[in-house]
Amino acid sequence: MQLPTVHPVLRDATTAGAAPDPEPAVVAVGLVKTYGTGQAAVRALDGVSAEFAGGRFTAIMGPSGSGKSTLLHCLAGLDTVDEGQVLVGGTDLAGLSDKRLTALRRSTIGMVFQAFNLLPTLTAAENIELPLRIAGRRAEPDWFGRVVAALDLGDRLHHRPSELSGGQQQRVAIARALVTSPVVVFADEPTGNLDSRSGGELLAFLRHSVAELGQTIVMVTHDPVAAAHADRVLFLADGRLAGELRAPTVDTILDRLKRLEPGGAPRGAPAEATGALDTGALNGERPARAGRRDG
Ligand code: ADP
Repeated sequence: MQLPTVHPVLRDATTAGAAPDPEPAVVAVGLVKTYGTGQAAVRALDGVSAEFAGGRFTAIMGPSGSGKSTLLHCLAGLDTVDEGQVLVGGTDLAGLSDKRLTALRRSTIGMVFQAFNLLPTLTAAENIELPLRIAGRRAEPDWFGRVVAALDLGDRLHHRPSELSGGQQQRVAIARALVTSPVVVFADEPTGNLDSRSGGELLAFLRHSVAELGQTIVMVTHDPVAAAHADRVLFLADGRLAGELRAPTVDTILDRLKRLEPGGAPRGAPAEATGALDTGALNGERPARAGRRDG
């Protein structure tokens, strides 16, 4: 039997026989990232492969230290990998000079962080337009209007950040990420600075921008309520993929997380018992019997 010659990839596919998924917006193949050297070395990513289909909302979860932020930063070109490939919109990040990587990140990647990072002296509209201005461009009025409408910021555009609530400020930060029509928006704990009500509203807006604008979103979160807004949750443990959930709910996420924490279900337990996927195959190890996993 032919064994796979590439890292098997955790595909963003629906159940077998369903209509094919959209082209992947982001592809990660065999990502390895080590911090430090010698005895102090930490393998933050240990062979992670995954695809993120366009127009979908994916959450990345896992215990603290499992490599979530490292993965997000490597996918966004904010950090480099030691091994493996990241493709965003079909472009291999590793092949780019610093200058071209910066240009690509500006045009194809949107970032949202826990901190809103708005400029206090600029209005909401000016903050939203800032990345385009830096690139010497102006917002395309129709798109700007759709983004502002999707985030319900129409009556806040002339306010400065100090005149906005936390939730409104984060919506401005999301609009700023969306306004360049990026291939993907990466969000790192976007609700981390918000109370639960504003956080819930913000997640509904993120969901809405996926549905209304076809935006691809990849979000790191430790919050099962936040992750339950996604179409799909990928779980990391010890720098490796440890399964996924489609159409997640808070309960199914909590159940899966419990198994990933130290003292949870044994990592080698059968997939039927744990609901987990074949993590060995997902992480690039040769499956004992199966051929290529095509999702
Ligand atoms: P998570 O986001 O899941 O909490 P991280 O990606 O932040 O996990 O970290 C994964 C592992 O890599 C952890 O053991 C962490 O201590 C280590 N790590 C992350 N960033 C650095 C760094 N800049 N220098 C050294 N070790 C790091």
